[in-house]
Parts: sequence; structure tokens; C-alpha cells
Amino acid sequence: MKQLTVNRLPALPGPAAWNAILGPTSELPRIESKQTADVVIVGAGFAGLSAARRVHQIDPQARIVLLEAGRIAESSAGRNSGFMIDLPHELTSDDYAGAGDDKAMIALNRQAINFADTAVKDYQIDTNFFDRAGKVNGAASLSAHAHNESYARHLATLGERSEMLDAQAMAHLTGSRHYLSGLYTPGTVMLQPAGYIRGLAAGVLRDGIAIYEESPVISLIREGDAWRVNTPGGQISAGRVILTANGHLESFGFEKGHLMQLFLYAVMTPELDADALARLGGQSRWGITPSDPMGTTVRRIDTAQGGNRIVTRTCATLAPGCRIGANHVARAARVMQKKFDARFPKLAGMQMEHKWAGHLCLTLNGVSVMRQLDDGLFSGCVQNGLGTTRGTLTGIGAAELACGVESDITRHFTCEARPKRLPPQPFLQIGANAILRYKEWRARHE
Ligand SMILES: Cc1cc2nc3c(=O)[nH]c(=O)nc-3n(C[C@H](O)[C@H](O)[C@H](O)COP(=O)(O)OP(=O)(O)OC[C@H]3O[C@@H](n4cnc5c(N)ncnc54)[C@H](O)[C@@H]3O)c2cc1C
Repeated sequence: MKQLTVNRLPALPGPAAWNAILGPTSELPRIESKQTADVVIVGAGFAGLSAARRVHQIDPQARIVLLEAGRIAESSAGRNSGFMIDLPHELTSDDYAGAGDDKAMIALNRQAINFADTAVKDYQIDTNFFDRAGKVNGAASLSAHAHNESYARHLATLGERSEMLDAQAMAHLTGSRHYLSGLYTPGTVMLQPAGYIRGLAAGVLRDGIAIYEESPVISLIREGDAWRVNTPGGQISAGRVILTANGHLESFGFEKGHLMQLFLYAVMTPELDADALARLGGQSRWGITPSDPMGTTVRRIDTAQGGNRIVTRTCATLAPGCRIGANHVARAARVMQKKFDARFPKLAGMQMEHKWAGHLCLTLNGVSVMRQLDDGLFSGCVQNGLGTTRGTLTGIGAAELACGVESDITRHFTCEARPKRLPPQPFLQIGANAILRYKEWRARHE
């Protein structure tokens, strides 16, 4: 008898601030009975909810159950910076240019964005949570400006539009004189990530899909031609199971020693009062990614998105055990406070209301794990840091694989190489964290 036992469950320090600022929602039930289903989906982030919608589109009669270990929008889905990016965004390169076929990846990313856009319309999700505003790659030094110029040239070879903003235009946009220049690209959707995820969950519920919160899957047992999916409170038998647990794919026993389990950090100001807003200046919504991938992401949001606030994100830790402590968040928060103070001297010293960490998962060769893992078992995992877009894609693709549908998405991911093996421990953790610290230092002004 085949059995997969889950050896660790998600645990993330600090609040999912994007979810917290939207106020409480009603809880969904835990699973507390024995049930059967056609498809069980494990993990209700970008990938899991997209998979649920896609299975329902293909087979409206299918009984679909989504099991989430925590609560909707409390995982990385409610902790990320909300940039749903269409263009190459290779975090391991110096300027985000991809190593593979960037044109094909852009086309796929845009399929994900269109899928999300249609969901927003069908489910009447607040469009303030899905803002087609584009984003800016900010440069604070001449070398970062050179990264932007190189990225703009790369985009031009792909036939992609971009616009260079000068220091004055950057100050007009952000209220900050920190940036020498910025490269605007129009295709990124700026999400209120928790708002979008809540809306998607409410929509698939209305489609008749069952969602159980606080129902972690602890084992899968193959019985005949079905999987028995066990949680502490109940169990479901289903012919098809889709794992959309991102890096926790490894906790189910897959790709051990091949996945980089990374934690990123962010902080968010309290709601800015009229005086702070007057001192800040600039526009009410914008998003800046750093021109050096190891730099600092900054976003300004407004009342329709959860309050007039600034969100700052930087620092990363590799934690192969998928656990980090409050001390890591405290260290990163100190770094982010300095970044905030440097960008907004008129608001310097403002205490952050929220400080948190979130989990993401990368492979050395930048591939995802979207394939059939076993009979009736499918994966839509490993988003390489671009999980709002790629999580949507791997969720769609895993659903299509499970339903026997072939598409550009299934063809792309099933043809990808397998994840490269990581160096052994302790070299991996010590070496990778040393490199991350060095890259943080090198990008300290960005
Ligand atoms: C600070 C930060 C900033 C980021 N910024 C961006 C950004 O701007 N743009 C971008 O594209 N990406 C960004 N990311 C990455 C992005 O958040 C992730 O790649 C994305 O959330 C991955 O989506 P997912 O659905 O695959 O996984 P997740 O969102 O991690 O969802 C997986 C779900 O599986 C559940 N789960 C795990 N194990 C079990 C189990 N045993 N049983 C049941 N459920 C289980 C988890 O609770 C979780 O809800 C950022 C991440 C962080 C931390």
C-alpha cells in the first residue's frame, strides 16, 4: 500500500498584513467527516484556487474539494508584494532578463493575467484589488540605472514597450527623491493580494466548490484507484488529487534536496494621516521593484486597498526546514526601517504597524514542478518567486493535466527539465545565506 506522510505543516511568523487590513471575514468550516470527491486540491493559494476554478470550467459537474492548512489569504498569498508581473523576472539574474525563451514565458504570463482578469469579472472582485497600473523598476545609483538600461534594451529586442522616468518624474510619482531613474513597464497588475485571493475563494465557493479551512493534509494513502486524503478531523477519497502547496511539496516527500525554501520579509506603515500624506506628496498608488533583484520593493496603496500606507520589502533567508523565527523578522524589520527612512526622510522614524515573513520556493534552474507525480496525483508547485503569475499558471496547468486537457501551459511545464539537485547541507544553508547577505549588501542603496 502506498502512503505519503506529510512531515511538516506551514508556520509563518507575523501577520498576513494584506489580509489584516481588510478586516475579518467569516470562517469556513473544517473538514470533520468522511467524504468522497472527484478532485481534491491541497492548498488554497494562487495555485490551488486557480486549479479549482479551472477544473470547474472543464467539468462543471465534478465534485471539487479544496483543503487549506490555515485560513484563506493568511499564507504567502496574503504576504506578498502583489506584483503580478507579465515580463521576464528572473530573480537570479542581475537585471531580471530570463535565461530561456522569454517571448514564450511572456505569452504564458499574460494567459495567467487574462485568466485572473476573467475571474475578477465573473466573480465581481473589487477592481481596486486587481489594478492594471503597471510598475516601475526604481534605480537609486548609476549602476542600477545601467541595469535598467540593459533591461530596457532586452525588452526592446522582445518588442516590449518600456519608458524611462527621470529623477523628477520618480519624485512626482513617489514623493521620494531617492531614485535617479525608473523603468516603467505597463503590463504588471498591482494586486491587493489578500483581496484578490478572498474574492477568488468567494467565487469558487459560489461555483459549488467546497473549501475547508484549518484542515491540513497529514497523509495520502492509495486505496484501489483512489487516494484517501487524511486530515486531523476528517478524510476524503478522490480519484484525483492536486498538490498546490508550493514549497511544501517537499513535505509530502517529493523533490527532496531539490527545492530552495526561501523566506522573504516585509513591513507596512500604519494608515498615514493627513499630515503625513501632505509631507509625503506623490501619487496615491504606485509600485517600485528594485532594478537589482536583491534590492528593496516599495509600494504605496490607498484607502480603496486597505488604507493609505507604504509597504517595504527586502531581505531573504534560506531555511531548508521551512521554519524561521521571530528573530529573523526582527533583524529584517530593522533593515527595512532604514530603507524606509532613507526613501522618506520626512517620515523617518515612523513605526511600522505590521512586520512579517512569507515563504516561497525556488529551484536552482528556475523550473517549476507541474507534472503528474503518480497515478491520480498531480502537482502545481514551485513558483520561483513569481507566484502570483506562475502560481496561477501552474494551478491552471495541474488542473488541465488532471482532466486530460492539453494546452500551451501543460506543454510548457511538462517539457521543463527536472529541478537541479542542491549542494549538500550544511554547505547549502551557510553558503546560500552568505551569498544572500553579500547580495543584500551590494544592493544596499537599491
Ligand atoms: C514578502 C513576499 C513578497 C512577495 N512578492 C511577490 C510579488 O510581488 N509577486 C509575486 O508574483 N510573488 C511574490 N511573492 C511570492 C508569492 O507570494 C508566492 O510565490 C505565491 O504565494 C505562491 O503561490 P502558491 O499558491 O503556489 O503557494 P502559497 O501561496 O504558498 O499557497 C500554498 C498553500 O498551501 C497550503 N498548504 C501547505 N501545506 C499544506 C497541507 N499539508 N495541507 C493543506 N494545505 C497546505 C498553505 O497553507 C498555503 O495556503 C512574494 C512572497 C513573499 C513572502
